[in-house]
Amino acid sequence: MSPQIIDGKAFAATVREQVKDYTHGLKQQHGITPGLAVVLVGDDPASQVYVRSKGKHTVEAGMNSYEHLLSADTSEAELLALIHQLNADPAVHGILVQLPLPPHLNEALVINAIDPSKDVDGFHISNVGLLATGQKAMVPCTPLGCLMMIREYCGILTGLNAVVAGRSHIVGKPMAQLLLAENCTVTVVHSQTRNLPDILRSADIVVAAVGKPLFVQADWIKPGATVIDVGINRVEQEDGTTRLVGDVDFESVKEVAGAITPVPGGVGPMTIACLLANTVTACCRLNALPEPGFLNPIT
Ligand code: NAD
Repeated sequence: MSPQIIDGKAFAATVREQVKDYTHGLKQQHGITPGLAVVLVGDDPASQVYVRSKGKHTVEAGMNSYEHLLSADTSEAELLALIHQLNADPAVHGILVQLPLPPHLNEALVINAIDPSKDVDGFHISNVGLLATGQKAMVPCTPLGCLMMIREYCGILTGLNAVVAGRSHIVGKPMAQLLLAENCTVTVVHSQTRNLPDILRSADIVVAAVGKPLFVQADWIKPGATVIDVGINRVEQEDGTTRLVGDVDFESVKEVAGAITPVPGGVGPMTIACLLANTVTACCRLNALPEPGFLNPIT
């Protein structure tokens, strides 16, 4: 049986189209244009690429994009003052502070200064708590994108065994919470786990978010399982060039899996699509308008 290669690029294009339509409706019916503010401190090249890409997609979806590019020596007080200003700005419905921040800035303090209702990354402690208790939260974009793809390929998830590899605050933990909310039996494995391959072999759904190139092997996967690869690793090749690979050994695992995401072209595009989706959700909640149902992950 040949596996289904989950086309995250096409899926993300569909989500962006839905976001665009909804945004158009908000403008037409209510005169409201969702606005996303992205704050970048410093000049990390990878972060600059992400921020530019987010801005481009925001504008293409018909929303307003506000970019705040601050120098690497910005003080905590200056950054907090900007966040307070964005919290109070009615044209801004989503606020994203690009991570990582330079080491002199306290990441938790900065993230928790964002108004939770504008926290489109879902990293504010209030949103973490709401998600953990199954309440209406802003859900982190990467796990939200993974869940959308898993639902599409697996249908109803009740009773399925899901194994999440990695326990980071931005991917592993919220992913596990979302799958629990879908009534999966969830196991989280991490760097200290014993018998990790045996645990993975029990999984109907595997989400790999460990940051280790080609880590997950074909003989760790149950035949027919759905495999979602969050990893983005740049590896050097023999000819000196680099290429992007995931945390899953795609070429061998695809021979066993029922469905699998490639890298690139899997989870990555869905993350930005879900950021736009969260901005629309935040805009609707702030204006007490109905939310786009297709985006609501908590059933
Ligand atoms: P992280 O470094 O914060 O966490 C990695 C996790 O993997 C940790 O919980 C650790 O316990 C676990 N781990 C490390 N070594 C392990 C091992 N040998 N066995 C089992 N578990 C192990 O990473 P993160 O921020 O969660 O990101 C994970 C990967 O996903 C990275 O490659 C990152 O670039 C990628 N990522 C992609 C997107 C996207 O949009 N596609 C978004 C976020 C992160």
